[in-house]
Amino acid sequence: MSEVREFQIFVDGLWITPNKNQAIDCVNPSNGEVFAKIAKADSDDTQKAIDAARKSFESGAWANLSIKERGKCLVAIAKLIRGNAKELSELESKACGKTIKHTTFIDVPTAADTFEYFGRIEKELQDRKLNINAPVDSKICYEPVGVVGAISAWNYPLIFFGWKVAPALIAGNSIVYKPSSVASVAVMRLIEIIQDVLPKGVLNVVTGSSEAGSAIAESKDIDMLTFTGGTETGRKVMQAASLNTKRLCLELGGKSPNIVFADCDIDAALGGAMSAIFMNQGQMCTAGSRLLLEDKIYDEFVEKLKGKASSLKIGDALDYAIEFGPLASKAHRDSVIKFIEQGKKEGAKLVCGGNVPIEKGAFLEPTIFTDVDNQMTIAQEEIFGPVLSVIKFSGEDQAIEIANDSKYGLVAMIWTKDIEKIDRVSKRLRCGTVWINTYGGFYNEAPFGGYKQSGFGRELGVEGLLEYVQVKHICLDKTPGGKSLAASWF
Ligand code: NAD
Repeated sequence: MSEVREFQIFVDGLWITPNKNQAIDCVNPSNGEVFAKIAKADSDDTQKAIDAARKSFESGAWANLSIKERGKCLVAIAKLIRGNAKELSELESKACGKTIKHTTFIDVPTAADTFEYFGRIEKELQDRKLNINAPVDSKICYEPVGVVGAISAWNYPLIFFGWKVAPALIAGNSIVYKPSSVASVAVMRLIEIIQDVLPKGVLNVVTGSSEAGSAIAESKDIDMLTFTGGTETGRKVMQAASLNTKRLCLELGGKSPNIVFADCDIDAALGGAMSAIFMNQGQMCTAGSRLLLEDKIYDEFVEKLKGKASSLKIGDALDYAIEFGPLASKAHRDSVIKFIEQGKKEGAKLVCGGNVPIEKGAFLEPTIFTDVDNQMTIAQEEIFGPVLSVIKFSGEDQAIEIANDSKYGLVAMIWTKDIEKIDRVSKRLRCGTVWINTYGGFYNEAPFGGYKQSGFGRELGVEGLLEYVQVKHICLDKTPGGKSLAASWF
């Protein structure tokens, strides 16, 4: 068995042992072995992190640097991520079971690119003069919000770190970050790697418990909270954040429709449908977990999809030849199996998968249900695993009606060659992203976020950046004669 790494919490530029000196085991879901330990922070530890962030913010050591100077630090972080890519990819795969191909080609480069993108942003944060039809000089200034609390989920730990920390930093904020307890090892190793880039106290990281998350959400010393996680937790966080009316950005769950029209390129749609539900073993907020198939191609498409899904090579996430790793933990796999049982009970037809293929670790076969009614539990609830619900539709209107019949509204996919249909359907879908003839196109320039119970606020792009700033209007009255309306009212 290889060495078990241990990580403490990172507060005010130092690695400190938490109050109660407790730690939690990090289990590799490919083999069930403990490969690291992370500190379990309680509310007192979290308060220390918040105090450090507040002190650093008030000192101006970071906020008062020019955007260019802050940007240089972000670009330096991007470079360090790239320079340590192999180690970070392996840790990420060990921590959440994502295949090494995935972490090497997607997670680590994406995290680096996001730091680079926000590191090179400049004009978006410059003062902006307003053209007002009045005798005033008016301008808009962008200022940091202050102390940002950031809490995130376990399915893309390094990417979420980039998505939240990079825009918060370039805007001049100080941060208290809490990665998910399920998979924080790669993030903690990254903190070790980048620890000298920023002034102390600007970035603080607490781990290991939802108590730390609650302490961040409730804290009156935190000005803004950005949260990625389940909708239920999001609701609690929203309540807690109301204690001091924190600014809030919530990235929550999804049950996204993948709509395949008969006039599409079938091979492309098959590939897209596979990626949309079986990449990262379906543990994606954006999973295309409802496959809406037009009646004319239903049987043919299901047959081909079944063939592809049942031939995926399942095994250890660290093996480059593996296409489908384990789920993130045994506990999570058990919750997915409960949904499979529910699907069977409600009358959906299990056409592929549903079994545990390897005893050790947290494996589960890629699973497909056909004959699904959109009202069934497996069509309405987020399963967050490799379980596809296939639903038949007839015509554009019915496809849209089924697609929108969900409490969630994160993303949707459309597969068709008809340009006018693309325009009509994408406008009528109630969600934050519509991918056409593709799946999973994330770009640093393009804002991402939800409608309905998938949350609010945006990540990435200029819209994502502006979540992390206060907008100040500075207005100088230049009325001829020096007496403005207010000055001469009484
Ligand atoms: P989760 O809600 O269980 O946990 C998310 C984070 O919140 C973790 O860090 C957890 O420790 C913390 N937490 C738990 N209870 C808390 C509380 N009371 N107060 C404050 N923090 C608390 O979610 P998860 O299982 O880690 O992730 C899966 C969920 O995340 C899915 O629903 C998925 O759709 C969602 N997700 C959404 C997006 C998006 O961008 N919309 C992206 C990825 C994942």
